[in-house]
Amino acid sequence: MFVQLRYYCIAVIVLLIIPAITYPWGFFAHERINRLAVYCLPPEMMVLYKPSIEYISKHATDPDKRRYAVAAEGARHFIDIDLLDAPPYKNIPRLWKDAVEKYSMDSLNQMGILPWHLGKMLALLTNAFKEKDKEKILRLSAELGHYLADAHVPLHACSNHNGQLTNQHGIHGLWESSIPEQLADQQFDYWAGKASYIARTDNFIWEIISLSGREADTVLSLEKQLSQEFPPATRFAYENRNGKLIRTYANAYTNSYSKLLNGMVERKMKNAIAAVAAAWYTCWVNAGQPSLSLLGSATAETEPVQQLDLLQQRWMEDRCR
Ligand SMILES: [Zn+2]
Repeated sequence: MFVQLRYYCIAVIVLLIIPAITYPWGFFAHERINRLAVYCLPPEMMVLYKPSIEYISKHATDPDKRRYAVAAEGARHFIDIDLLDAPPYKNIPRLWKDAVEKYSMDSLNQMGILPWHLGKMLALLTNAFKEKDKEKILRLSAELGHYLADAHVPLHACSNHNGQLTNQHGIHGLWESSIPEQLADQQFDYWAGKASYIARTDNFIWEIISLSGREADTVLSLEKQLSQEFPPATRFAYENRNGKLIRTYANAYTNSYSKLLNGMVERKMKNAIAAVAAAWYTCWVNAGQPSLSLLGSATAETEPVQQLDLLQQRWMEDRCR
């Protein structure tokens, strides 16, 4: 009886304690990156982006929400670059059609298509500027910001993306959610400077991805090292969110990991802000610097409300499963 009761209690505890749900860069960081990129823009773009800053921030997370509703979405957020090549990754075709020919579409959908999707998003945003289509400009800007931010996360460029191969489960959320959420607003210097023009967008994309790919080892090895100094019981904390007990990383562990990384998360977040602003600016310049002043005066919601509601609803349903 005692044994049965003990197993019952364990089962209840296991059911109640739910691992923290983590999202690429965390929703917090995605929203911050898009919001702060707006402040790097020149006045000619600010006339549109500043009045739309809430939209640009809020919709920074749409691509992650869409993963629950659209099967093709998942592969756009990462690349398992270590499975394709070794640094400096020069053997990976930069052109999409060459990559499909070399690896096949099925393999790429398994190993991720982030760099090629970024190239597509830049072209789409440039066209939206040419068309002076406000709804498209803002939606694509918000989403391009998301994918560029993902490209700055080392574990988005690594097959061991959540430490699943090295018994480091949860490291993804520790790096990109716990550190920014606990430390960024208090400690990080967010100012990324004025938006710069990108002469070669393909080089720009692959430099970001290659750097992330090379940094993944550091992200993993330093956490492995730190975990040996912290017994498991001291690494985690539990908090009640909406009636559910959620396991998160303890503040002391998050702080120690951030220190050990020597400012990497702050540096990557700032680089992401600069990259997002540069990408928006470059698309606008390449479209012929169309005047955005008239577009900025309208204040209506820029996306059909029903579509957004549906996205939000699907995301909530799947998240609660
Ligand atoms: Zn993502």
